[in-house]
Amino acid sequence: MARLTGPVCRLCRRSGDKLMLKGDRCFGPKCAADKRNKPPGPHAVTRRRMSDRGVQLREKQKAKYVYGLFERQFKRFFSEAEKQVGITGNNLVVMLERRLDNAVYKLGFADSRSQARQLVLHGHILVNDHKLNVASALVNQGDTIKWREGSKKTEYYKIILENIKAKNVPAWLSLDRATLVGQVIGMPSSDVVEAKFEPTSVVEWYSR
Ligand code: SF4
Repeated sequence: MARLTGPVCRLCRRSGDKLMLKGDRCFGPKCAADKRNKPPGPHAVTRRRMSDRGVQLREKQKAKYVYGLFERQFKRFFSEAEKQVGITGNNLVVMLERRLDNAVYKLGFADSRSQARQLVLHGHILVNDHKLNVASALVNQGDTIKWREGSKKTEYYKIILENIKAKNVPAWLSLDRATLVGQVIGMPSSDVVEAKFEPTSVVEWYSR
């Protein structure tokens, strides 16, 4: 499974936005976007004014970085969103949110989406009591998301169990904090999802 590698803080600095790709570090004093709020590279001192096309590209790239997708994977999501009834940008946001790795992250089982993806890929997560190690699988209303029995013996699980009380889950998910069993109780709504990108710009980018 392909994934983004390399220094992800550069992606935030290039985007000019905190994309929150590194879990707890993003909230601390070591956040590179806070410490050096300028594009990466030796000569990039200030941000240049962008054309409309540049803005659209930046928003599309931000969406890809936030959900950890490559162009081909992202384009596939966009094509699916286009086929659905409704506003394409909203459909896209909802589909991205419904990804299994995102749901695992939003339940608080991981500090970042990339960590959540690792949990899924390594088979720690069950959906409706069956192992599902496909990070891009979309969850549906009524699905239960929980830990594999063997994974509950790990140190990582114990730490999550300890820290989960302090975490909030979005309204479309519910979580039993004693057993770490999550459920999809609704569908994410594009107006309450705090998207780190502007969906309209992404649609405009692909519309040309
Ligand atoms: Fe972005 Fe987080 Fe790195 Fe800050 S610490 S630059 S928010 S990935």
